[in-house]
Amino acid sequence: DYVMGGYHPVSVNDVYDDRYRVVEKLGWGVYSTVWRCLDAKSGTEIALKIQKSAPEYTNAALNEIDVLRTIQQQARSQNRESDVVVLVEHFYVSGPHGNHVCMVFELLGRTLLHAIQETGSLPLQEVRDITRCLLRCLAFVHDSVGVLHTDIKPENVLLCGPGRVKLVDLGTAFFLDKQTARDIQTREYRCPEGILGIWPFTPTADVWSVGCLVFELLTGETLFDPQSPRPGDAFTKDESHLAQAVELLGPIPPALLDKRARGHHWFTPQAQLRNISVAPPPPGCDAIARVLQDNFAFSPNDASDVSTFLARLLDYLPEKRASANLALSLPWLQDPPSF
Ligand code: ADP
Ligand code: MG
Repeated sequence: DYVMGGYHPVSVNDVYDDRYRVVEKLGWGVYSTVWRCLDAKSGTEIALKIQKSAPEYTNAALNEIDVLRTIQQQARSQNRESDVVVLVEHFYVSGPHGNHVCMVFELLGRTLLHAIQETGSLPLQEVRDITRCLLRCLAFVHDSVGVLHTDIKPENVLLCGPGRVKLVDLGTAFFLDKQTARDIQTREYRCPEGILGIWPFTPTADVWSVGCLVFELLTGETLFDPQSPRPGDAFTKDESHLAQAVELLGPIPPALLDKRARGHHWFTPQAQLRNISVAPPPPGCDAIARVLQDNFAFSPNDASDVSTFLARLLDYLPEKRASANLALSLPWLQDPPSF
């Protein structure tokens, strides 16, 4: 990706915009590299995101700036914190691979992915605190700003204190009333309506991803791990993904299939997956609670509480799925926070 249109080559001690001296690499994504820098003017440290330079990345960066500014304005007008990363300023840098948008952010801590990788999984109480914080953030972004994030995953949620997180990476976020995106979300966190092509999308698309994220924080394993087909397999990765959902959450409601734009040939007229064999959980079996007990040594009570909560975030039907705001009032989140 270090080619024309790709990443800008950065070295430690490089100075950008006459003030930001590069200290170390913080992370990277499909769109950018991100660097911890010392700001010579203020003496504080910031995170500098340097976008790839091809037009689609520049457009994503300009979109990210637009969405972040709107979130910040809305938070200011309501005199509250947004729990979305604060954008300080942006500028351009020109290099051997083209012209790059650079965004200066407040410096946050490590990502939830780093946190999981370090310890394998996070303690229940900490996951509750993080979930509460993330849902509060999303309730504001959805209901007060009218924005869908579309890429909730461990790499894009950063710790900023014990049990406290902020949301980053608004590059693919959009205003709900101006949506044109057809393919949203990173595979493991993709909602059923995203897989089936049922748009326009609604805020609960992000809530599905939160459900997947909560499971992963508690267990260290992704809830869904769709398999790429091997030669001879009659199914696609999308069908493998849906089959895993059926095995955990039960059959897909025909009402969802009525509205789909893709995948008509994946299902029989009885709304059963046609090309891949699946066994839905037997009646009365709470499959997620079973997995938590059998594979991750959860107590029956904890497993059942978590699973009851997740069932509301992982409803197949976007309009029946809990909103971020409603999820905040579910029993699993009602214990007092630990901070
Ligand atoms: P991309 O759009 O390329 O995915 P992100 O905005 O997600 O870029 O940033 C990529 C990575 O950089 C994140 O996963 C995280 O590791 C790190 N990062 C991003 N913003 C910050 C920040 N404000 N403070 C600390 N690290 C950050
Ligand atoms: Mg990212």
